[in-house]
Amino acid sequence: MKKTAGTVFLDRDGTINEDVGYLSDPDGLVLIEGATKAIRLLNERALKIIVLSNQSGVGRGYYTDAQVDDVNRRLMELLGKEGAKIDGVYYCNHHPDIDCQCRKPLPGLVELAALEHEIDSKKAYMVGDKASDVGLARNIGAKGILVLTGKGASEIEGMEEAPDFIAKDLLDAAAWIIADLERSPL
Ligand SMILES: [Mg+2]
Ligand SMILES: [Zn+2]
Repeated sequence: MKKTAGTVFLDRDGTINEDVGYLSDPDGLVLIEGATKAIRLLNERALKIIVLSNQSGVGRGYYTDAQVDDVNRRLMELLGKEGAKIDGVYYCNHHPDIDCQCRKPLPGLVELAALEHEIDSKKAYMVGDKASDVGLARNIGAKGILVLTGKGASEIEGMEEAPDFIAKDLLDAAAWIIADLERSPL
């Protein structure tokens, strides 16, 4: 297995692409400005990029797993066109009322990802626009970064624990991660 410099877990909606609310149509996927460049910069550092997404829209009956897969494929395609690569995408499709172990901030998706990728979650970052993303970072011992895109700005107040960094957007988050790695290599 190829040795990497660590892992960056990324939330999807509101972090990489605009959060339009229960996105089910690949044609409705719009990348947030700078997101492609951010992922490319992280790729250049040999960081593994894993997307972790809560897609309760499936459990709520709004759309199907096949539709989520279509949107995820489109995401990879749009990023790939600009030379940005994602190593894996995992999502929770459960209704929030269901007692699953994979809805962020619970660590189930990370455990799933670790079956297929060499991941040391203590040598990782988690970037997202919600308290549940920062909560996941805490739960797995990773550094948590809140982005102010998506729901980020409105999530700050209700957050129980402060993130390690609050970033304007994913590009700002990537710059912070790269600087943080130079300060304290994983
Ligand atoms: Mg989000
Ligand atoms: Zn779940």
